Amino acid sequence: MKYLLVLAVLWVAIWLWRKNRREEMREAEREQAAARAQRPTAAPSAPQAMLRCAHCGVHLPASDAIAGPGETVYCSAAHRQAAERG
Ligand SMILES: [Zn+2]
Repeated sequence: MKYLLVLAVLWVAIWLWRKNRREEMREAEREQAAARAQRPTAAPSAPQAMLRCAHCGVHLPASDAIAGPGETVYCSAAHRQAAERG
């Protein structure tokens, strides 16, 4: 009978601990959601520098440009090679 009481106390303690953890996790999730809501969403069309291909003159975003010698940029590796050949 004594063991049964110990078991019951243990069970209650574990149940309380698990309940606490679940509430903590729920609270953390709520905080994350709030942080996500507050964060300004990155604009898909963020302003980006437009560069001009030194070979064909086409304008392209800086992230797509291929850097050539010096300050020159190219729209593709082929145009960079073509410019290097002269
Ligand atoms: Zn080009």
